[in-house]
Amino acid sequence: GVASLEKTIKYSKERVQFGTTLSEKQGYTHKLLVPNAVQLEAARAYIEETARRLDSGEEDLQVEGSIAKYFATEAGDAMANDGIQAFGGYGYIREYEVEKIKRDLKITTIFEGTSEIQRNIISTFRLRESVRSKGRHYLDKAEALDKLPEDCGARLVSDCLRILNEAVLNARKVKLTKSQHVMFLLADMMAWCEVGEAFSQKAATYKGKERRPDYIRAAARLFAREVAEKVYLNGLKIACGCDKDMAELRERLNSLDLAQAMKANLSDMDLVARELVK
Ligand SMILES: Cc1cc2nc3c(=O)[nH]c(=O)nc-3n(C[C@H](O)[C@H](O)[C@H](O)COP(=O)(O)OP(=O)(O)OC[C@H]3O[C@@H](n4cnc5c(N)ncnc54)[C@H](O)[C@@H]3O)c2cc1C
Repeated sequence: GVASLEKTIKYSKERVQFGTTLSEKQGYTHKLLVPNAVQLEAARAYIEETARRLDSGEEDLQVEGSIAKYFATEAGDAMANDGIQAFGGYGYIREYEVEKIKRDLKITTIFEGTSEIQRNIISTFRLRESVRSKGRHYLDKAEALDKLPEDCGARLVSDCLRILNEAVLNARKVKLTKSQHVMFLLADMMAWCEVGEAFSQKAATYKGKERRPDYIRAAARLFAREVAEKVYLNGLKIACGCDKDMAELRERLNSLDLAQAMKANLSDMDLVARELVK
């Protein structure tokens, strides 16, 4: 995914269409570059955090392994797909190699546990843990995020973790966790929330040299908005789409201030785009 992103960035700065390079067109950068760069950066943050925990001797991180594999391979695959689009006709032929990256990447969402099997693992084990801990599993994560600074998306991810917790426990109460469709909706909410948690934590303390800290923080805020979208829409599908009375969850979803969350979305995208193509 990163290889495809790098090739695409280089190409976008060379290719001139309608008088300017592709890298100067928001319709190009904000569709094909920024969302993929954000997802890949989020995947990197999650993998780094999981690797750090493994190195420090923590055990029983199988679900984290599933989330890392699922999220990173799907993010890479999405970038590889957009990489072909970003090269136009050249993307479709062999010479520019982005089509090879797509072919090579597709297998990663299939082997070593398909994305569907990972979602099975994530939802089954996190449901079990949420019930065992009486909801503390996600509430503890939310409370830890509340202590982080505002500008790294942490507050939004924290709100989402609390809603996720209610979605999991309420779905179980009305026996919706017997439905694999609902479990997969929950798995995506879980994966996005946990990746968002790691990304916000990284952004809050980032002092690395690879990227500017304000780039990492803007990317983390953009990803936090993706988490909110995922939690809100999947939550609605569960609360309103499954013929069960889930008024409590519906009310909780309505309390998520998406209008506030979307503030400064465009300026964050502009910042990330500028840094990518500089
Ligand atoms: C290039 C390549 C290299 C490989 N290398 C190895 C290797 O080194 N070692 C090895 O052991 N294997 C290897 N494999 C096999 C690979 O791990 C399997 O192809 C993969 O696990 C999927 O299994 P399957 O092909 O039987 O698909 P199936 O299990 O039949 O899956 C078909 C579809 O159904 C979905 N599905 C299956 N079960 C469920 C379920 N319970 N709920 C919802 N959806 C479901 C799957 O996600 C998939 O989308 C390789 C495969 C390829 C193509």
